[in-house]
Amino acid sequence: MGNLVVVGTQWGDEGKGKIVDILARDADVVVRYQGGSNAGHTVVNQRATFVFHLIPSGILYRGTLCIIGNGVVVDPEALIAEMDRLQAKGVKIGKNFVISQRAHLILPYHKAIEKASEQSRGSRRIGTTGRGIGPSYADKMARIGIRVGDLLNPSLFRRKLEENLVEINWFLERLYKVDGFQLEKVFQQYMGYAERLKGYIADTVTLLNKAIDEKRTVLFEGAQGTHLDVDFGTYPYVTSSSAVAGGACTGTGVGPTKIDAVLGVTKAYTTRVGSGPFPTELTDAVGSGLQERGKEFGATTGRPRRCGWFDGVLVRYATKVNGLASLAVTKLDVLDGCKELRVCTGYRHEGRLYREMPADLQVLTECQPVYETLRGWSSPTTGMTSYKKLPAEAKRYLNRVEELAGCPIDIISTGSKRDQTIILRNPLTVRSRKRQC
Ligand code: GDP
Repeated sequence: MGNLVVVGTQWGDEGKGKIVDILARDADVVVRYQGGSNAGHTVVNQRATFVFHLIPSGILYRGTLCIIGNGVVVDPEALIAEMDRLQAKGVKIGKNFVISQRAHLILPYHKAIEKASEQSRGSRRIGTTGRGIGPSYADKMARIGIRVGDLLNPSLFRRKLEENLVEINWFLERLYKVDGFQLEKVFQQYMGYAERLKGYIADTVTLLNKAIDEKRTVLFEGAQGTHLDVDFGTYPYVTSSSAVAGGACTGTGVGPTKIDAVLGVTKAYTTRVGSGPFPTELTDAVGSGLQERGKEFGATTGRPRRCGWFDGVLVRYATKVNGLASLAVTKLDVLDGCKELRVCTGYRHEGRLYREMPADLQVLTECQPVYETLRGWSSPTTGMTSYKKLPAEAKRYLNRVEELAGCPIDIISTGSKRDQTIILRNPLTVRSRKRQC
């Protein structure tokens, strides 16, 4: 048993929720390390379909401790609504759920600032979800953030809020010409949230490190994906946190020497929500076919996802920056019935061939993807649980994905349900299963 980080290798929505759900069966602790309620993981089990925004999907297993780490930004209103929704579906949330006292809060002014700023950017807007996540992280870095632990100290919370509102109301009213916020109203609202959440707030650094010292298995759950990471993504069309595996350390207080492996989740094709460059995007019938068959609409916002061919450059870069040990390939079934499939091996721009991810957004926006064409398969792979029984063309496709990514595949997902999965090797239990061709 070891400690494993699960990270998205593309632009998010890779199906991390399903993979974390499967692995959580063998984990003692599941911890979210970054992002906010903009994430949306969908898990389908025998009971129902569950959508998670902040709470780790491990909460579906009795006896699994679920933690919101310090690297997450918490909107208490959204968190309480999620707790209510899950409890209404019979999910137990009690001592099995803990929130870091060091996690930062999202306040109503963060949402107002984000909305006003996006509106003022016009066509240059980033395409954020408008949940106040970016402004909350900005306050954290500017050292004016208010933390979850502050909810337990009303006079400190009030003083910080009062100080912040002086500047923030000036910005909202003078610069953006929208209404500011009243101290008393926000204070009372948040004290109400404190009452509901106080039993869950704790020192998660001590908790997590103790669990690791006791040889318990910890799963670190990333949200969004590598190419939305604030440092390594397609900046500025990124999220405001460290979505890569390194974020698991800073977002939980667990040192890198305590992490045993990193699993990258990748779709068998590529999708992206919101603005920003997407070299292999398909704006034709093939793209809309992928969108329809893959039900590519955001779990949080319902926004349609842009779809395209598998991009090897993108995933190879993710292998590097995350130090991936292996891959989980999801949604193989969505490619069923495609006569031929393309995979991108490089980008061409102004006569130059790029095999590695360019940092220059202009190159990414203007480049022509270099494709290799592979034969598709006609027999369905939906629900298959045996690698051996996959069509030969699907095996060839997966082999090429492995080669391009520079990383071996451990898990293949062939449907949204738990059992629609081929596990070649469980990265948590490391019981090797020989692949039979
Ligand atoms: P996440 O944010 O990375 O967890 O991804 P989402 O939950 O937003 O998107 C993944 C969607 O694909 C969910 O609706 C899953 O139920 C679904 N899904 C996951 N794996 C598979 C798969 O192998 N095949 C199909 N058809 N759907 C899948």
